Amino acid sequence: MKESPADWRHTGVSFIGLKRTNRIVFLLLALVGVLLVRGLSWGKGSSDDAPVHHLVVLHTNDTHGHPLKFYLYPAPDVGGLPARATLIKGIKKENENVLLLDAGDLNTGRAESNLFRAKPDIIGYNYIGYDAMALGNHEFDHPLDVLRMQMAWAKFPFLSANIRVPGGKYLARPYIIKAFKGFKVAVLGLTTTETRGIANPQNVDGLIFLVEVETARNLVPELRRQADLVIALVHLGIYPSWNRGSKRLANEVEGIDLIVDGHTHTRLDAPIVVKHKASGRRTLIVQAWKWGLLMGRVDLWFQDNKIRDYRFRAIPVNLKTVHKRAHDRRAYRFVGSEIKEDRRLLAMLKPYADEVKARLSEVIGYAERPFLYRYARRKETPLGDLVADSMLWFTRRLGVDFAIQNGGGIRDNLEPGPITMRDIYDILPFENTVVVLSLTGKDIEAVFDRIGAVTRGRGAFPQVSEGLRFTINQQKKRCENILIHGRPVDPGRVYRVATNSYLANGGDGYFVFRDAEEKYDTSMLQRDVLIRYIRSLGGRIRPKNRRRIQIIDRAQPLSALDRPAQSDPSQPIAVFPATPVSNSAACLP
Ligand SMILES: [Zn+2]
Repeated sequence: MKESPADWRHTGVSFIGLKRTNRIVFLLLALVGVLLVRGLSWGKGSSDDAPVHHLVVLHTNDTHGHPLKFYLYPAPDVGGLPARATLIKGIKKENENVLLLDAGDLNTGRAESNLFRAKPDIIGYNYIGYDAMALGNHEFDHPLDVLRMQMAWAKFPFLSANIRVPGGKYLARPYIIKAFKGFKVAVLGLTTTETRGIANPQNVDGLIFLVEVETARNLVPELRRQADLVIALVHLGIYPSWNRGSKRLANEVEGIDLIVDGHTHTRLDAPIVVKHKASGRRTLIVQAWKWGLLMGRVDLWFQDNKIRDYRFRAIPVNLKTVHKRAHDRRAYRFVGSEIKEDRRLLAMLKPYADEVKARLSEVIGYAERPFLYRYARRKETPLGDLVADSMLWFTRRLGVDFAIQNGGGIRDNLEPGPITMRDIYDILPFENTVVVLSLTGKDIEAVFDRIGAVTRGRGAFPQVSEGLRFTINQQKKRCENILIHGRPVDPGRVYRVATNSYLANGGDGYFVFRDAEEKYDTSMLQRDVLIRYIRSLGGRIRPKNRRRIQIIDRAQPLSALDRPAQSDPSQPIAVFPATPVSNSAACLP
């Protein structure tokens, strides 16, 4: 049933490197080629004189509140809607039939979006001319009236055929049929039923989530009658398993030509292709990473309701690599070509950017003593505890056992006095989100093998939350006395761990996290989680060493480490409020 893109691939000529004029020639040649070989590649039984249509499907997903260009380590000014607008405008100029889709999770990311409930994002999508967006799970980060307001702001429909409100009506439009010159395209929306479990329960209370595959099976035959091409615009995800997400949809429902997917932030070089044995029909699955860093482009050539040929590209939106480093200055090189920003859209979004800048000086709490960052790579610190506890607090509803942060990800002190949002941005400058992983007890043991091997002073040195205690034996290079909720690690149990997206992707050698079978990215930036956490603590905070990590170093007795050193002001002076475990906070992933 399944087929890897490697054994069934379009003629492997590189398309990306070609200049525009060459590209047009290339496309024409490809089209002629398609006409010559058609009938061999895709299905049978077409009449020779039926016209071949060409449709360009442009797609994004999981843009997560990134309306303006942003810093993505190690490069500034990547992505953003003004650059995407220019890119899309260019493609629309060159192609008659362009369909522009987003597979959902527009909400929740940077302050420019969060503070305005994604209005800047929707303004941008309206301006660019999106045709439709699927409802993602993060469209339920706010109460339903906010979602309805967003639908009203949008000049394009939000789609989902498998969510109903009490009484049976659709929450959003199930599908659209868009007419092009000489053909029609159906776009069917689907949302992962996992939303029920991972969204804030208050926001999905009463909603009915129908099984995605069954919903599609009921609707696709009707859509095939109405349209020449059927596209499923889905927020389901791509997983290793064929029994889950969009692979399952492609496998179990016939008649979908293209699945434009989101949710798992998957970066593909080629579509996943599923062949249906009985009909010979194929279904393509595409997804375009996250944050608008890439835009997917699928060129489809079809005839008699069947795809004859396709081409896929993932176009970088001002992604950069470090090109050289001289005199402490970095030079950057664009991946692909530089895209100029659309000035009109930039002007439309500027007031939101200005307001964010102004709001960074907002005071969110008060530090009675300094929380120093400079020992975070050597030992447990009150600042590290604060950061890790904030992740635990934020994900507690998901049954998280403990949280872990890399010491190297903490970059500045929390100075005594009023705490501003800007202070938190300095402490956590990276665009890391909070991710929840499911790990077996065996995986957990492997995590501690990794921690045991970390040389003190390295960024990989961990800072951990409440719920976890252990000893690092530096002599033996291993961890001992590991206690989770006061109990030793049970190899047969499944644990839930919250961490930042850097470690979740295997950063700092935490490969066990990267390989976790179950991963849920809350898409909430870690710094926003910390801001909310400090706010929830209700004002004044003080550093305190929690003694979650003991270190046996050489022959040094433990007691010597426990004694506060004169030269180390990060050591405990007074009590920092007991970690509150508030489930009432409305800021769930
Ligand atoms: Zn999602």
